[in-house]
Amino acid sequence: MLTISAQCWLCRMPLALISHGMCSRCTSALLSERPCCPRCALPALSGRQACGRCLQKMPPWSSLLAAGAYLPPLSTFVQQFKFNHTPALAKPLARLMLLRALAARRAGLIRYPDVLVSVPLHRGRQWRRGFNQSALLAESLAHWLPCTHHPGQLIRTQPARIQHRLNARQRARNLKNAFRLEFPVEGCHIAIVDDIVTTGSTVSEIARVLKQGGAASLQVWCLCRTL
Ligand SMILES: [Zn+2]
Ligand SMILES: [Zn+2]
Repeated sequence: MLTISAQCWLCRMPLALISHGMCSRCTSALLSERPCCPRCALPALSGRQACGRCLQKMPPWSSLLAAGAYLPPLSTFVQQFKFNHTPALAKPLARLMLLRALAARRAGLIRYPDVLVSVPLHRGRQWRRGFNQSALLAESLAHWLPCTHHPGQLIRTQPARIQHRLNARQRARNLKNAFRLEFPVEGCHIAIVDDIVTTGSTVSEIARVLKQGGAASLQVWCLCRTL
């Protein structure tokens, strides 16, 4: 099992702050990837304008931030975090999301949300895993940023069926009415927090529920974007 060591995850240099997981040089290399579309976080010519795909069909959120692409080395740590029961990785991974959000705000691409809504797991899955990875990420982010996070604001009422064998339309149908809002969101600026965004069908369904509840604006913040 991977534990937090006193060395940088990537280059093995000693760390000044063990809780960071990565040295400053590796962190900036990871965060200075090629430009991504601000709406879908997929590689694009400009980091400021929506890509052609998004212009054709605008996503239901104003921006999608991803700490990085779902590729090694980041994907390896995300798998360790999620599947190998290593919740101790939540903080260093959330820090990458924080740095991405700070940079986007400095560039005028986003505003800070009032509320972070983490993607819920169905209670059976959470019981088996022992933790909800998205809630742990949101908890750290809410600690550092001027916004709130309360797990339980959004409930998953149906267990997730295996999504990866379904096409986009089947995924959307599979998720319909899978979430129930447990708090008032009218007028709130919200960021949905997820670990990995693949097709975006889960966050789209949550966005639909939050919009229906009267959310003023929506963003998606994730650790990794699948290319
Ligand atoms: Zn390093
Ligand atoms: Zn796009």
